[in-house]
Formats: sequence, structure tokens, C-alpha cells
Amino acid sequence: MRRKFLIAGNWKMNKTPADGADLAREIAQSAGKEHGVDVVLCPPFTALESVARSIEGTAVKLGAQNMHHETAGAYTGEVSAPMLRSLFCTHVILGHSERRTYFGEDDAFINRKVIAALKAGLRPILCVGETLAEREAEKTLNVVKRHVTHGLKGVPIDAAGDVVIAYEPVWAIGTGKVATTAQAQEVHAFIRKLLAEQFGDGAQRIRILYGGSMKPSNAPELLEEPDIDGGLIGGASLESVSFLALVEAAAKAKA
Ligand code: PEP
Repeated sequence: MRRKFLIAGNWKMNKTPADGADLAREIAQSAGKEHGVDVVLCPPFTALESVARSIEGTAVKLGAQNMHHETAGAYTGEVSAPMLRSLFCTHVILGHSERRTYFGEDDAFINRKVIAALKAGLRPILCVGETLAEREAEKTLNVVKRHVTHGLKGVPIDAAGDVVIAYEPVWAIGTGKVATTAQAQEVHAFIRKLLAEQFGDGAQRIRILYGGSMKPSNAPELLEEPDIDGGLIGGASLESVSFLALVEAAAKAKA
């Protein structure tokens, strides 16, 4: 089964509201019509509103890069799922390796966010993946299994189609090193098997994105793999030319 490709841009801590609005407008002008690829932009919180205005009325969707699992309360500096919904977000990146590494987020904490996101009607993009040391110690599949099974604990079967997984080998993020197609497909197929254990046939509806130095030059090959359903893009999402080339590559791979 071929799932609709999804290309998501993770802008990380980049772009002011004005710069984000310009970039989103350029992207929406080319990729804003309903077509074979879902496109999601994930600006920083401060640019959500301006980006939402730029993509209004187009098929481009809005995502956040993080959220808190409570809906409201005394959590200084945090933002909740209903707040993101009120800004027209449809997606939220959760468990990114930068959140795990620099902000100490663990699987149980991330799981609470996944459940809260789904409850609020947000589609979580759950990031999973091993570090270089873990790959070298041949622990890749163990680590990925832990991230996936703990991260999705308690997700009901009927919510499976709303979940997106991003396999992001940490050693490939922002480093220019990309997993080989064989390395990526091996892990994606393994994730699909884990999803089938939890969701049965529902696993076929879950998009599994590859993330880690994905660029227009390496995307076509990766997107040919049967279990790679798109990409979560960091560096290459900050310029419209490279991001749109990735959307184009996904449209071609799908054709
Ligand atoms: C990311 O951080 O999600 C990512 C994939 O970054 P990059 O594309 O820059 O490796």
C-alpha cells in the first residue's frame, strides 16, 4: 500500500514572524494546491500566527515543534495543545532528538504529550532514532523499539491514522551524513512491524518519515523505498527553493 507522502519542514529556532510569513507565502504559492503530497510547516511558536495567515486558504498545513501535555496551568514558558489548535495547527513535532538531548525529555514524558496531542485533535509527529554510539554498539533497533513502543503507549487503534513517525538517526541530523537507503528502509520496515503489533492493519495508514540531512539530491532514492512515506526536513526547509524541490521529489516518487 502506498500512503500519501508527507513533507514537513522543521524550522527549529529560525525565522522571525515576518521572515517566516515570507517563506511560507513562497512555499504556498507553489505547493499550496491540493496534490499528491501533504506539506506541513513547523515554525517556532512566535511565527505560528504569521505563517498561519500566509498559508490560509491553501493546502499547506501548520505544525508546532513542541507542546506541554497539560491543557493549561502553572507551567512557565510552556504552550498547550489547545493553544496550538487555536492558532490553526494541525500537527506537532514531539520527541525530537534535540528535545531529548538538550531538554532531558524521556519516553514517558513524550508519551504524555502524544496522548494529549491526539486528544486535542493534533497529529503528533513522533521522532525516534539512535545516536552514533548506539548504532555502533548495534543497539539501533532496541532504541527505536523503545522510542516507538513507549512513545505510543495507550494510543487507541482508531487514532493510528493520525499518528506520524519520523525516523531520525541522530548522527544524520544537521551533519550532512545521510543514512543509506538500505539503512533507512531496514529501520522503517522494523517500525512498521512494531506498529502492526500495536495497531494491526492500522499500521498501514501510518506515515513513517525519514529525517536527517534529507536534500533534493538524496531524496528521490530514499522516497523510492516502500516504507519511507516522506521526510522531516531541517536545514533544507529554511529556503523555499530546496524545500519545494523536496516536495517535487515526493510528487515524482509518488507518480
Ligand atoms: C531535523 O532536525 O528534524 C532534521 C531532519 O534536520 P536536518 O534535515 O537539518 O538534518
